Amino acid sequence: MTEKKVALVTGASRGIGKACALELAKAGYDVIVNYAGNEDAANNTVKEIKEKTGTNPYAIKFDVSNKEAAENGIKEIIEKYGRIDVLVNNAGITRDGLFIRMTQEAWESVINTNLSSAYYVTHPVAKIMIKQRSGSIVNMSSIAGVYGNAGQANYSAAKAGLIGFTKSLAKELASRGIRVNAVAPGFIQTDMTKDLNTEKIIEFIPLKKLGLPEDIAKTVKFLAVDADYITGQVLGVDGGLVI
Ligand code: NAP
Repeated sequence: MTEKKVALVTGASRGIGKACALELAKAGYDVIVNYAGNEDAANNTVKEIKEKTGTNPYAIKFDVSNKEAAENGIKEIIEKYGRIDVLVNNAGITRDGLFIRMTQEAWESVINTNLSSAYYVTHPVAKIMIKQRSGSIVNMSSIAGVYGNAGQANYSAAKAGLIGFTKSLAKELASRGIRVNAVAPGFIQTDMTKDLNTEKIIEFIPLKKLGLPEDIAKTVKFLAVDADYITGQVLGVDGGLVI
């Protein structure tokens, strides 16, 4: 059991989730680093957070797209820490392609990992936060969820779903002292975007650069920790791509 506040970040072995975990550790949280299977990346993240913050992060492998695995993961966290104060639903994947050629498997894997996961993970966590009468949830949406994107019907549907989920949950949980917000990143430099033609994309971004995982992490920390009077909002972090 811990006296310190606890933050769970899903998909925190790499990219945006890793930066969020580091930022929350800097803010004094005991951070739980969830990942899907990339053991080396998760161990490196834990090591880096430890070195940079002197905190003791904990890596936990579970597949957020699997209800039973997610429930068992949350159970393990509660047995170890006794509380969860911040949840960042960040884990996500892409399986891009034109809709007409999109397989049911590509549709379902993206919907399950990016949207149903929010139900699987948040359902047990919300029960804990309701008992605590406090907590904060940040869901990782995308500009694709706000405006759509050709070649990403599955991903855009999932990310738009997260926005509806965020707003509804914010209304339901506000009276229990729980805030729920979303971040909608634009193009951020991670493994997910490494194969894109960035030169072409940068032309359309008013700030003329891609975002860094740290740009999203600072926003997540703001919404999760500092923004006492903000709930149900979707904050775009996209260099002005969508104005
Ligand atoms: P990334 O670099 O590809 O990292 C994905 C992370 O999610 C990894 O830690 C991975 O774990 C984890 N993950 C994937 N499937 C999982 C599962 N089933 N269960 C548990 N963890 C799982 O991605 P990213 O760019 O940081 O993206 C993070 C989030 O931001 C995603 O939701 C993404 O849709 C969203 N986003 C990203 C961008 C962008 O430009 N990068 C823009 C808008 C929104 P392993 O290491 O174990 O595989």
